[in-house]
Amino acid sequence: MNGPRTYLDYNATAPLRPEARAAMLSALDLHGNASSVHAEGRRARQTIEAARVELGRLAGAPARDVIFTSGATEAANQVLSGPWRAILVSAVEHPAVIAAAKRNGAEVIVVPVDHLGLVAGDALATQLDRLSGAQGLRGEDILVAIQQANNETGVVQPIAEIAEIVAGQGARLMVDAVQAAGRIAIAASERRPDYVVLSSHKIGGPLGAGALIAREGAPLTPLLTGGGQERGRRAGTENVAAIAGFGAAAAAAARDLATEPMRLEHLRDRLETELAVAAPDMVVIGRQAQRLCNTTLVALAGAPAETAVIALDLAGVAASAGAACSSGKTTRSPVLAAMGIDDDIARCAVRFSLGWASKMDDVSRAAEAWQRVDRIRGSARQVA
Ligand code: PLP
Repeated sequence: MNGPRTYLDYNATAPLRPEARAAMLSALDLHGNASSVHAEGRRARQTIEAARVELGRLAGAPARDVIFTSGATEAANQVLSGPWRAILVSAVEHPAVIAAAKRNGAEVIVVPVDHLGLVAGDALATQLDRLSGAQGLRGEDILVAIQQANNETGVVQPIAEIAEIVAGQGARLMVDAVQAAGRIAIAASERRPDYVVLSSHKIGGPLGAGALIAREGAPLTPLLTGGGQERGRRAGTENVAAIAGFGAAAAAAARDLATEPMRLEHLRDRLETELAVAAPDMVVIGRQAQRLCNTTLVALAGAPAETAVIALDLAGVAASAGAACSSGKTTRSPVLAAMGIDDDIARCAVRFSLGWASKMDDVSRAAEAWQRVDRIRGSARQVA
């Protein structure tokens, strides 16, 4: 299809923001190593430190707490590889968190979610009580990893309440704020968790950059050792251009926080309305919960997600079948299973996610393309 494309897959990767592109292009001309003392090195260092300030600002944390990494996966792995004796994760965490927790060797406890995808605070408190009571673990031996918002459904967790429960036991809290960043205030600004993980490419920065924001005093084991970069917390010569782009994207995301969420929510709501006109029996998953302004996960029973995504793509619309982090993989979503969503609905769940460049035209084109999905479903029924 040669017409204009409509990109509605920001939760997988957002298009590069112009501010990030400009910052990267100028950083590419800096040829110094940020650890060198000469003028070239100092310029590279200044670029990194300016980006660190922007990340700190976006996350409501001091710049010194920001550690640049290759992405949120690395940042989460760094925290989860620590000497924990027990790790509690919610049932809807991203695979980057769940897989890293399982590799640690500590006891891993999966905290259930309700039908809206919300972490059960009482189940979390009960597990923490059990670990510190019967098992005699000290708070500092326990890590709780909860995302701020889900990548598939957009459902937002009550992080302030969770932080209270975790702090009550003296345990450590890691918040995966990858999808929350730039869409709602990051958890760090309310009650600061010990660790926050962020990803550049979800906020319009380049791929291959991320950050771990580790509160002063929170235990930290480097994943990569070598040179003393990032104050000994993450070795390796810094990717200055990627960090510069990430910093510029963070600045733009923080600036737009006052207006973008309202604009995106309006577009998202309109999209849901128009999709429902095309197919009135459509289900919006997680609708009754607080959701990110940019995300909708919809299902048309009888139209399998893979078929729907291909039909949309042929009509010029990029959306995704459930989580697209490992695109092409369309196994049943553990997130929807944890929410107790019926298999017939879960396997038809298509995610549309909007962002900085989305416009009302995108909404209209997606709604038009959705009619194809409904027609495919109609013909499948006739054949059956
Ligand atoms: N956490 C969440 C909620 C995500 O959506 C993703 C990516 O999809 C990640 C972590 C991993 O981020 P990265 O691609 O920077 O490794």
